[in-house]
Amino acid sequence: MKIEIIRNATSQICSFTDHFKGFDNVDAVRKIFGDKTKDTLTQIRVEFTSATLYMRVDHEGTLLVNPHYLSSGDFTEIYLDIVHELVHVKQAWSGENSDPSVSYVERPLEIEAYRVSVDEAKALGWDENRILAYLDSDLVNADELKQLARTLEVNCGEMDDLVLTNQ
Ligand SMILES: [Zn+2]
Repeated sequence: MKIEIIRNATSQICSFTDHFKGFDNVDAVRKIFGDKTKDTLTQIRVEFTSATLYMRVDHEGTLLVNPHYLSSGDFTEIYLDIVHELVHVKQAWSGENSDPSVSYVERPLEIEAYRVSVDEAKALGWDENRILAYLDSDLVNADELKQLARTLEVNCGEMDDLVLTNQ
């Protein structure tokens, strides 16, 4: 699998394929967009903004990316984030938006996106501790992390150690 990520944001608004190359050959992405994957990826708009912590998709399906995260984040984690966010692009284009009154880790659209990225992490050979460390972002607290792991059927047997070492 040949993936290339152009890490430096040179213009604030651009096309997905300006920065993220080779994703049309990723099975997990082809499962999201089907036969039209290649064309679809060229239509996704990317906007760089430091108002977003890592990445997120707005209600119109624009991928918002923190430029510092893109330049300095772990390559494979960014790859998994992109797979996750592409699920949100498809959801947004289908008119599906998360209900902000539901907690982040209970939103069906988030769980759907996390399932795809966690499956991809497993396919890359990540063990459960590494997957847990990936899920342990600044978007969730310790209880939410446990809940998310349980929902995604990621074993959190070592979780207490993990949470303690991260504090
Ligand atoms: Zn998400």
